[in-house]
Formats: sequence, structure tokens, C-alpha cells
Amino acid sequence: MKSFSSPVENFKESIFATMSKLALDHKAINLSQGFPDFEAPSWIIDKAFLAMKENHNQYAPLAGILSLRQELSKHFKNSYDIEYDPHQEITITNGATEGIFSSLMALLNPGDEVIIFEPFYDSYLATIELCRAKPVPVTLQSPHFNFDPSELESAFSNKTKCIILNSPHNPSGKVFNLDELQMIAKLAIKNDCYVISDEVYEFLTFDSKKHIPIASLEGMKERTITISSVGKTFSLTGWKVGWCASSEKITHHIRMVHQYNTFSVSHPFQHAATYALQNIHKYLPDFMDSYKTKRDILLNGLKEAGLKPITPEGTFFILCELDEEDDIAYCQNLIKTKRVATIPTSIFHLKSHQGKKLIRFCFAKKEKTLVEAIDLLNAHC
Ligand code: PMP
Ligand code: GLN
Repeated sequence: MKSFSSPVENFKESIFATMSKLALDHKAINLSQGFPDFEAPSWIIDKAFLAMKENHNQYAPLAGILSLRQELSKHFKNSYDIEYDPHQEITITNGATEGIFSSLMALLNPGDEVIIFEPFYDSYLATIELCRAKPVPVTLQSPHFNFDPSELESAFSNKTKCIILNSPHNPSGKVFNLDELQMIAKLAIKNDCYVISDEVYEFLTFDSKKHIPIASLEGMKERTITISSVGKTFSLTGWKVGWCASSEKITHHIRMVHQYNTFSVSHPFQHAATYALQNIHKYLPDFMDSYKTKRDILLNGLKEAGLKPITPEGTFFILCELDEEDDIAYCQNLIKTKRVATIPTSIFHLKSHQGKKLIRFCFAKKEKTLVEAIDLLNAHC
């Protein structure tokens, strides 16, 4: 038999799937893969049932249902003062993951370079490789996860096609500030690059940190693809309803990939997502408060258990610094001896070795689950 696609030959099962399986095998508490163990809002679920009963069960339009795109357009205007035309500039995708995939496919030719901040979300690297393009890492340095401006500047070359930004950032919990975003924007404009901005944790920020979409900066809307989804904001990771917002020209090319990849996204869930967004301002205050409580429970619990957590400004993850340099062995051992599953982070780096000393805990869990995990971490065995 002939060989498979060469990047695919080298792909392994994602660390999130591997650790969740190991958690099941060891009957461990799963603080590894990022998904809530509590119920999604029933008022949104009821709307999905209703949409099915109302017969929204056939293909949705390629770009997504208009009411959802209109609601997103209002959301961008109300939350960030960015104008996106719902007809020409917003596309509904199969979660943020497909948004990232279709965007990179739309932009890249073999040999193009893509700047990614490490630690990075795993799908960026895989998708860049599928496009036969080259990742160029810039390290966010532990423990504050700042980047060195000169490292970023020298990462650009005449082959750089785009830069991928993720803020609030998984796994570090960093929320990029205005100065950093301005620096990135200036370099993107100077080098005539696109920016893919993954903002799936846009509403998970703490301690009065504010999420700023890079597309809201002057001169950036026309070169930025802003991506998010309902997964984190509405605790609906399994629905895979996401979106890409960009200029008309970029959007056209994203849609051309999307139509031959998934063609369209679950129709009834789009109706329910529309309803969720219509009610977001009533929903968000309690949502954000409950995550702040969860973050503090885990943060204090980890300290109590003798670990060294780094306080996250956003997302639903906490990184802990290890004394030893083997994150993978540490996570394997933690599952076996303490029955708590976490994520090693060395695999989210291409250049720096800092990931060997960093492991990730997820706090998108019931308070009870977090307390049980802390008890297990404190138990002598
Ligand atoms: N980007 C980041 C940074 C993520 O952490 C995740 C997964 N949780 C995604 C994208 C994927 O989002 P979705 O589930 O909407 O595809
Ligand atoms: N984004 C989730 C995380 O960081 C995982 C999603 C997945 O399993 N692909 O844990």
C-alpha cells in the first residue's frame, strides 16, 4: 500500500483524549481535558429541543443561519465596538477548531511561515503542518508569560503569512494587554501579515482584566480573523458551534474552504446559540462569578497541597510549576498515585524546554469535584 499524507503519518492521538482516557482507566478525577463536568444552561438546551420540533433539521445555509450571524454582529458591536456585516463578514463554523482550520487553509500555501506563541493550542501546529507551511514559535516565558519584543520582531521574514494569537491564552491563563496587542498589530501591519485571533475564552477573565480583541485596534479589522465559539461561554463544548469574523474578502475565502469541508453546521444548535447570545448579558455576571469562585478554590487548594500554581488572569486553566523537569512522568504518576488527571505542557512547545516544568489543571468543574481533587492531592499514599 502507498504511504499516507506525511504530516498525518506523524500525528498522534491528542493529549486531551489520551489523558481523559487515562483518567477513566484509573478512576481519577479528570482535571485534564478542558470541558465542564456540570450541566449546560437548561434554557439554552430547551431552545435546541424546540428548534428540532420546529423542524430546523435539514442543512443550514453554508454561512450559518442569518439570525445567528446578526446576533453575533450585535455582540461584536456591543461588547467591543467592532462592526461586522452579518451577510458578508461572519461565518458559522464547526466550533472554533474548524474556524482555525478553514482560516489557515484559506490563507496558506506550502512554504509560508506562521508565527505562533508557545505554549500553543495543539490544533494550530497540526493544521499548519497539513497546509505544508512552517510554524515559527515565539515563547511566552513562564511565570508571567510575557514575550520578548525582539524575539517577536525577528520571527518575521518575507515568508510570514500570518500570526496566530490566543487571548485569553490556553494553557497559561495570560490575557494579552493593550501594549502587547499594539506591538503585535504594528508588526503585523509592517510585515503585511494576517492575524488569526482565537478568542474562545473571551468571557473568562478575572480580577478586572479585560479581553481586548486585536481586531478592535486601528488598521487591524481588515487583516484579522476573529474566532470564537459557544463551547466555553455557554458550557456547550459538545455542540461545536463557532464562528469566524473578518473582512468580506477574507470571509469569502474562508467560506470556500468551509463549503468543501463541513459545508454547514448543526442547524437546531444554531437556533439555540442565537437565543443564548440574545440573553448573554443576563447570563454573564453569574457565569463569571462562578468561575472566579472555582479558580480560587483550585488555586488555594493547589497551594495547600504544596504545589506551585501560577495565578491565571483568564481561561479555566491553572498552570503549576514543578521542581523536577519531567512533566509527562509527573502527570502519569499523579494519575496513578493521587488519581488526579492533568495535562503536561512540554508538547505545546517547539523551542523552549519550560514546558517540562509546567502542568495544567482545569477548573471547569463542579466545586465538589475541585474539593475532591484537592483532598486526593493532599492525601498521603
Ligand atoms: N482554541 C483554544 C485555545 C481552545 O482551548 C479550544 C478548545 N477548548 C479550541 C480552540 C477549540 O474550540 P471548539 O471546541 O469551539 O472547537
Ligand atoms: N481545548 C480543550 C483543552 O484545552 C480540549 C479540546 C480537545 O480535546 N480537542 O483542554
